[in-house]
Amino acid sequence: MEKTDYTAAQDRYTKMEYRRCGRSGLKLPAVSLGLWHNFGSVDRYENYSAIALEAFDAGITHFDLANNYGPVPGSAEINFGRIMRDSLHPYRDEMIISTKAGYTMWDGPYGDWGSRKYLMASLDQSLRRMGLEYVDIFYSHRPDPDTPIEETMGALSDAVRQGKALYAGISNYNDEQTRAAVEILRADGTPCLIHQAKYSMLERWVEQGLLDTLEAEGVGLIAFSPLAQGLLTNRYLHGVPGDSRAAKEVFLHKSDLTPELLAKISSLDAIAASRGQTLAEMALSWLLKDCRVTSVLIGASSVAQLRDNLKSLDGPDFTSGELEAIEAILKE
Ligand code: NDP
Repeated sequence: MEKTDYTAAQDRYTKMEYRRCGRSGLKLPAVSLGLWHNFGSVDRYENYSAIALEAFDAGITHFDLANNYGPVPGSAEINFGRIMRDSLHPYRDEMIISTKAGYTMWDGPYGDWGSRKYLMASLDQSLRRMGLEYVDIFYSHRPDPDTPIEETMGALSDAVRQGKALYAGISNYNDEQTRAAVEILRADGTPCLIHQAKYSMLERWVEQGLLDTLEAEGVGLIAFSPLAQGLLTNRYLHGVPGDSRAAKEVFLHKSDLTPELLAKISSLDAIAASRGQTLAEMALSWLLKDCRVTSVLIGASSVAQLRDNLKSLDGPDFTSGELEAIEAILKE
């Protein structure tokens, strides 16, 4: 795609559902796009820019990044900055762009975890890499057991007050840490907008209290890895494709594909087929049936996968029989 060739689809806002994020004024698309994988320096611009533009054309207004996304770390932000410059910059006010700091980003004591020093420096670096004046959401990517939570939340609040971020968010905080963070941010006058947590049919820890806490506190939940990195799709039903995440053996491994898991995936796939859906569509529809889930934060390595995932919005409601059958498979 050449610079300035892109014009967004006229009908982009007719296709997507937008959900209010907790008790904030902000609405997020029910499906958001994450750039953890597939947007790094090892990936092809033609492919990932096509995915990003297809997403925006489909009403996906929310793009999620972090300082360390790549590989190499930082390259997803650089590449997203290029897509912004080439195509999406006229639409900046229609977009919610997030980034995070919390995992190892640079050497020495100030490039990791949750100090004010690290968060502030990292956000400045992220803005430079993306060529943005501000991000919409700035997250503490993980709780830091050795930094007072007041310091980490104070840095988020100040980033908002400085206009470098519009909202503060937290990720990977447990229920107790979340309550503490929410209280401090509220007292600081920069309420916590959103919690980004791992949630899928195969990873249900948020149901043990966090979802209730977030609802009570008026904080949204965005579910990351909603397809369990591709396990909850048809990707591995007939072996491990050479270009798949499991074949790369970094964040997902061939050894994760145990016979028991593959049997579960096949049984879930059969239920999806009976509903006229792919497994990926059903896995996302299953999360979105709970209105406390503001958005499902998917990844995609191709435009075809993105299109498939978007169809989750058009799926039929679940019958109680289907829900029971899914629970029985997941408990096996
Ligand atoms: P998913 O669970 O959606 O997995 C995405 C992967 O699944 C794709 O890269 C692709 O893998 C495969 N896939 C996607 N759609 C389909 C489909 N329709 N059919 C077949 N295969 C499909 O999410 P991710 O694990 O990628 O995480 C999504 C986002 O969540 C990240 O980009 C990031 O923004 C956020 N995140 C946040 C974390 C945090 O700590 N806050 C941690 C992890 C993620 P393949 O490459 O094999 O084609």
